[in-house]
Amino acid sequence: MIKFWQERVKNPISTKNLECDSKLKEIKKELKSVIGKKFAGSLAIRMVSSGSCNACEAECNALSNPYYNLERLCMHFVASPRHADIILLSGVVSANMYHHILNVYQQMPQPAYIVTLGDCPLLQGVFQENFAIKGAKSLGLPIAYHINGCPPNPQEIITGLLEFLKSLG
Ligand code: SF4
Repeated sequence: MIKFWQERVKNPISTKNLECDSKLKEIKKELKSVIGKKFAGSLAIRMVSSGSCNACEAECNALSNPYYNLERLCMHFVASPRHADIILLSGVVSANMYHHILNVYQQMPQPAYIVTLGDCPLLQGVFQENFAIKGAKSLGLPIAYHINGCPPNPQEIITGLLEFLKSLG
């Protein structure tokens, strides 16, 4: 065991991908600028899990770590829909969550946007045609943007949010 750690100290494994780092820096810079212009410098996100496996939420949690540092990108998660600009919707939209999501949307200041996260809300995958699953389309609400992946990683989520913001007029 001691040998293992001696070796590890001599040859540390770098988990950082430099190419990815520089790309991420560019995305972060652009995000700050777009949020500054379109949301007065602060984008409030209400996360709604509507029957997910929790992997999408785990990736979102990683957005708050010091590497991705969401708050420094002018974005933050809020608990109340009344303070939110967008809903980040994960999961298959179960029958139990259906009315809750509509309620969240109605409480948001308008214009409110829904961004679906992961493959579940739109595709439902193996859960399709299940009596307990309704899917995001059944809500009848406008879906402003979809971030695909199962789950999308933090960089894909950040990139998706940037694309969503750029798509706004
Ligand atoms: S998209 Fe994949 S990771 Fe995300 S909630 Fe659905 S099954 Fe889980």
